[in-house]
Formats: sequence, structure tokens, C-alpha cells
Amino acid sequence: MSITLEQLNSASHAQAAQLLVGLYEHSPWIAEKALNARPFLSLAHLKHAMTQVLREAGKDAQISLIQAHPELAGKAMVSQSLTAESTNEQSTAGLTHCTPQEFAALQKLNTDYKLKFGFPFILAVRGARGTGLSRQQIISAFERRLQNHPELELQECLRNIHRIVEIRLNDKFNAAPLLGNAIWDWHEALAQFSDPGYLEKGQLTVTYLTDAHRACAAFISQTMRECGFDEVKIDAVGNVVGIYKAQQADAKTLLTGSHYDTVRNGGKYDGRLGIFLPMACVRELQRQGKRLPFHIEVVGFAEEEGQRYKATFLGSGALVGDFKPEWLDQKDADGVSMREAMAQAGLQLADIPAIKRDPGAYLGFVEVHIEQGPVLNELDLPLGIVSSINGSVRYLCEITGVASHAGTTPMNRRKDAASAAAELALYIEKRAARDGDSVGTMGMLQVPNGSINVVPGRCLFSLDLRAPLDAQRDALATDVLAELKAICERRGVQHTLELTDRAAAAPSAPPWQKRWEQAVQPLGLPLQRMPSGAGHDAMKLHKIMPQAMLFVRGQNSGISHNPLESTTSDDIQLATEAFARLLAQLGAERQ
Ligand SMILES: [Zn+2]
Repeated sequence: MSITLEQLNSASHAQAAQLLVGLYEHSPWIAEKALNARPFLSLAHLKHAMTQVLREAGKDAQISLIQAHPELAGKAMVSQSLTAESTNEQSTAGLTHCTPQEFAALQKLNTDYKLKFGFPFILAVRGARGTGLSRQQIISAFERRLQNHPELELQECLRNIHRIVEIRLNDKFNAAPLLGNAIWDWHEALAQFSDPGYLEKGQLTVTYLTDAHRACAAFISQTMRECGFDEVKIDAVGNVVGIYKAQQADAKTLLTGSHYDTVRNGGKYDGRLGIFLPMACVRELQRQGKRLPFHIEVVGFAEEEGQRYKATFLGSGALVGDFKPEWLDQKDADGVSMREAMAQAGLQLADIPAIKRDPGAYLGFVEVHIEQGPVLNELDLPLGIVSSINGSVRYLCEITGVASHAGTTPMNRRKDAASAAAELALYIEKRAARDGDSVGTMGMLQVPNGSINVVPGRCLFSLDLRAPLDAQRDALATDVLAELKAICERRGVQHTLELTDRAAAAPSAPPWQKRWEQAVQPLGLPLQRMPSGAGHDAMKLHKIMPQAMLFVRGQNSGISHNPLESTTSDDIQLATEAFARLLAQLGAERQ
């Protein structure tokens, strides 16, 4: 018998607590306390209320909760004394069928882990899709997390407990995330295609116009057709474009999408989520026989990451007239020019200018993207509303001091170029932190031809400064450069600066940001407005039409550009429902 939210909301406190029994291992108090937040507008609301109860309960209570869990494949499993829920989870993951070697490896990990952290290792073994991790995945997650800092690992255990509860709750409410699962499976299917040299190692790399890249375009096109798009084509730069037509032919178009290329050894969701998610929404509209008062155009951008050629945002850039003909003569690592690669892929160079969109035909651009950062994961929130894509400015710098003997030069007579750079690095940390949402990084730092016994005479370094608003970024840059000057004067060293890149911030268009907020609001969760630290295709479309983005929480501290990038089918489901609400609302506005 499954429960409904209405039942839970209208039951007495005691009855409601009874309905939620068995969620947190031997710890019914969490669900009981969360009931004070009734009525719940959604299951996500209930889940979030429970995370808040545990957050507020403090560290001792959190550790007791972790202690209440059995070890993975531990004594309790062997002696069959687990709770029914745990037995089910551990056997779904195949832990009850470990080989003797796997079993021994897990016992050793259990011991080492307990010794380091003092509590048992908690992993939601049903995984991001709810269908169960493989024993190998479990063992590698265990090995990886054993290296974590204790504070981070405590939080990681709690997040895994919340994930275990999320799946238990879905079972109780018979609320499988069906759309989220379908979209999750498309990501798996697309991840089969990977460039040579990476495929063999089980790594995902899809760079511009390789065979794997073209196989991805074919897969996306085919899936779009199956979803019921009216027109599907691959354009002159390799973008996959699907159109689901409006009731009226002369209607305007909502543009959405993201990129399907990846970085080297990247994650499965970066970019691709923003293509598949609206595709699932179109499939639902088609199944319901619904047409909206605007066309929906979903674009899978062919190139965003700039990996094979230095042509970042090539795909979305082509839509705003930013395709640069000089790119065509660039050669990849094997000496193949972009022109040759495009010809080989059957793309028509002459058609590129025609890809440029007429802003007058469009309502705006929306993009869904995995967050690629830790914020939502730390807040236990599935969705975030992007307020702005950060503007950035980059410099390459050189400080010149005097290389002198490390043994004979007294500390007060040195002109140490590296120490000057180090002083600036520490200043940047403090100065960027002061803004709250600015970031500053010295990502490259070297002493050319340095020696262990020589005071550094030269130091080369990079600066990458970003902020949600151009004025804020400029203020940050002004302060950092002034500090650089002051440090150099005080230390008697020289410096040079080369501006290598400046990208304008792309603040979300207020009405579109509002639409995302209204689409997320019915979940009953706090609205998390946040800047995007990373660049996205939306930055390009920003040049010609209003845009706004929605972020989806990433697992594993939100890691991205990494094979550990992950998001759950539950979070994908919530984002899909939000997208569907945005479509419905936009439809209502345009009636
Ligand atoms: Zn991306």
C-alpha cells in the first residue's frame, strides 16, 4: 500500500509518524520532527525538511545516526540481523553475493575506515538511478572516500543517508522518478560513444567532429525523432536542431539546449542534461497531443569545451554570428585542420552564416545545466536558479627580481620574485572572499629555470578573476592589480601584465529568471539564487536574446569535468517537472 502526500499532510502527528516509519535507520525522531513543517507541497519538500532537522540537530546527533547504520557487507549482513530495508539495499547491490576476494577487500576497508573516522562507511548502494551500484563501483567509492578529510567525509555520509532515505521514501509513496530515469538512461546510452584512446579505458571524451562525436549527433537526432519532434536536422557546424511546432506556424520560438561535446575524461551530464531534459518534455507534450503557442527549438550544441580546436563555444557562437573563419585553418594534434574535419563530416561551410538566428523570431533562451560546483549539494537542495553567469578577466603576469645565492643573500636584501607572487596569491584569496561571490585564482605559477639554492629571479603566473557583475569583476581586478603594483614597489621588483581574455558577465534576464523561480516554487523548497562560476552556451545567446539558466545539483561535492560527475534521477525528475511548468506558464502568458 503506497501513501499519498495528502494522507501524510492530513494525518494526526502520531499517525503521520507511523506512515514514515523505517526511513532513517533506527532514528524515527528525524521524520517525526520534520512533520512540524507540514503541509508538504511535494516529496522534495518533505525530504528537505528532514535534512534540515538533521542539520540543526548538531554533530553528536549526526554521528549517532551514522553509528546506527550497519557496515557494508559487515557482520550484521552475514548474521542476517539487518533491518528489512538494509537487507533489501545490500542484496540489490549484490553485496550478499561477493566473491571471497571482494568480501575480504570490503572487510579491510571497513576496518581502515572505522579506524580513521570512528564511524561506519555509509554509501547509498542503490546509486544515482536507484537500481544499484556494482560491487566494483562500491569498492572504488569506498577506497576514494577513505582519503577524504574527516569533516567532508562526515557530510558525505549524511548526504548518502539522505539519499538512502530518498529512495526508501519513493518506495513508500510509489513515486518512481520515471522521466528522470528515462533521461538518466539516455545519458548512459550517449556515454557509450567516446574518442579512441579513451573508450578503451572506459573514459568519456567526445571532441568536435570525431567519429564518436558524430555518433552522438546521430543518437540525439534519432532520439529527438522518437520523442516526436517535427523537424530534426544537423546544421552546418554539427549542432543537432529539433523543432516541436506551435499551434500556429507564425508563432515565436523558445530556444533551449546545451552542448554534447565533453572535456577529456569528463562527466556524462555536463551539457547533455540541457539537451535531453527538454527533449523529455517535448516527448510528454507529444504523448498528450499538446501544442503550445510557441515553437520549441532544442539545440544540441556541437562544441562548447574547445578541446580539439581552440574554438570554445563554436556551436552556440554560430547562432549569434560569432563563428570565426580563421578557426578553419587551425589544426588538431594530428594535423587535421578544422576545415578538413568539417568536410569529412559532410558539413557545408557556405551554410554557416545562415545559422545566425534572427532575435525577432525568438522569445528567449533557457538552459538547464548540472551545477558543476558544491553549493546545491552542501545545501541539500536539488535545484538552483542562476542569477548571472560570471564575467571574467584573465592575465598572464611576470615578476622580475634578482636571482641570487640562497645561502649568502640576507633576507632583507632579497628581490624574490616568487615571494612577491605568493604575497599576491594570498591577497587574492582574501580580496575575492570579501565579495562573497567573486572568485580569484592563480592557476599557473612557476619559477622558470629555478634552482633549490637560488633566490627566484623570475616568476610567471596567471590570474583568473570572476564575478557576477562586470563592475564587481572590474573592482576586483583594479584592487588586485593595485596590490600587485604595491607589492612590487615595496619589494623592489618589476612586473609585466598581459590581458589575455575578458568576458562580460551575462546576468539572467529578470522576467526569465522569474519564470524559473515560479517553476521551482511549487516544490516548497527554499529558492536558491546563485551565480554561475563556469561559462555556458547561454553566455553566447545572451548577446542576442534574453536568457536564464536552471542548475541541477551534482553528487560527489558537485565535482565536474571529471568521471565522478553525477546527478540522481530524482533531481533530474524535479528539473524536468520545473521545465514543464515553465513551458506551461509561458503558454498561459502567450494565450
Ligand atoms: Zn557544460
